[in-house]
Amino acid sequence: MTGTAATEEAPRLTFELEDIGFNEVPKKWRKFYRYWDGPGDVMAPNEILCPVCKVVIRSKREIRPGDRLYCMPCMSRLVVVTGDDGELTTDVLY
Ligand SMILES: [Zn+2]
Repeated sequence: MTGTAATEEAPRLTFELEDIGFNEVPKKWRKFYRYWDGPGDVMAPNEILCPVCKVVIRSKREIRPGDRLYCMPCMSRLVVVTGDDGELTTDVLY
């Protein structure tokens, strides 16, 4: 028996999302966003802050560099990158 490829990416964590009161988008989409609590707010592995409107975007799966996200509240398209501090952040595509 040979081992499995060690270079394969680990499976992503998945998350159950629920509506936690973000009311700036249609009800169907509310669970994908939450309000930011400010600089002390810690992002979960499936969350990232929109740099444009400062709303937290939530995904059903773990967010990784290269992921593209859409921020419905401000209609920005974002791509996830690793910042200088090693934390995930986003660049705005348009
Ligand atoms: Zn936004």
